[in-house]
Amino acid sequence: MIVVMGPGTTRAQREAVIRKIEAAGLQVHVSEGVERTVVGVVGDSHTKELLREGLEAMPGVETVVRILQPYKLVSREFHGGRDTTVWVGDVAIGGGRVVVIAGPCSVESRDQVMDTARAVKSAGAQLLRGGAFKPRTSPYSFQGLEEEALRILAEAREATGMPIVTEAMDNRQLEMVVKYADMVQIGARNMQNYTLLRDAGRAKHPVLLKRGPSATIEELLLAAEYVMAEGNPHVVLCERGIRTFESYTRFTLDLTVVPVLKRLTHLPVIVDPCHGTGKWELVTPMARAAVAAGADGLLVEVHPEPSRALSDGPQQLTPENFAVMMQELDAIALAVGRRV
Ligand code: PEP
Ligand code: MN
Repeated sequence: MIVVMGPGTTRAQREAVIRKIEAAGLQVHVSEGVERTVVGVVGDSHTKELLREGLEAMPGVETVVRILQPYKLVSREFHGGRDTTVWVGDVAIGGGRVVVIAGPCSVESRDQVMDTARAVKSAGAQLLRGGAFKPRTSPYSFQGLEEEALRILAEAREATGMPIVTEAMDNRQLEMVVKYADMVQIGARNMQNYTLLRDAGRAKHPVLLKRGPSATIEELLLAAEYVMAEGNPHVVLCERGIRTFESYTRFTLDLTVVPVLKRLTHLPVIVDPCHGTGKWELVTPMARAAVAAGADGLLVEVHPEPSRALSDGPQQLTPENFAVMMQELDAIALAVGRRV
């Protein structure tokens, strides 16, 4: 961490800053420039972080810059530069193959899930998704079939062998989801629900953590750090679109995060082109782009009859369109040294 002292700083102000740093048990390296003085702070990063805002508020301090990232366990350096593979049942995410998680936005009926599960599996999906507890903008919209949906998903896993992924929005739901599902999704709206993140960390179950629509990359990484700090290293990050001024699409799918996250973290990164665009016609092109950008996987909503879906109809692929998408992804994956 470095403390930059602005032009016109007095000697007394500079000494006060140095005293504060040394009193915390940290070492100081002062470098005097013509206009500014830069005070380097060396020592335990936790102590530095505790001191940071206090220093920023001191007279004469222009800015305090972190040199190391505020997250640790999720950082690539922390893992010796290597990628992490997260196992969900017998499926490896981050292991070189592009893993596709597919299924309806919401579990609506047994037939709907069974038909979708069989179709997506034969097209090459490896994991099955389906919402049991739905985070809907309106309290009057369909809220999910809850435990009945979890039973249906478990039955679909029995029938197809595909591990299942589903969302929990609070700890009570989490306890239930962990009993039935192979991976728990923490949705975009809950990315900064720190109690839930800690609970998911303690559950030690694989976690699919979706980026909040207004979350920065650093906030996403810190959310993952919460889960990992509780001793759960099984975290997969998911870009699902952010809020911008653009209103043609539901959100703006920020594919830049794929190479950025790959540089900053060892965790696998997947992309959800459905919520990211809100329009089924855009799903396949953005899925192709995500794979080309280096994503470790995709999350794709598939419904046997999107026009009758109880949630997110406009962005769900039919099983037929999903199969076409999967074929198109083959060539792109191969071109970037992967396979679907
Ligand atoms: C979902 O995956 O069904 C979902 C609600 O996603 P998000 O949290 O990204 O909106
Ligand atoms: Mn959805």
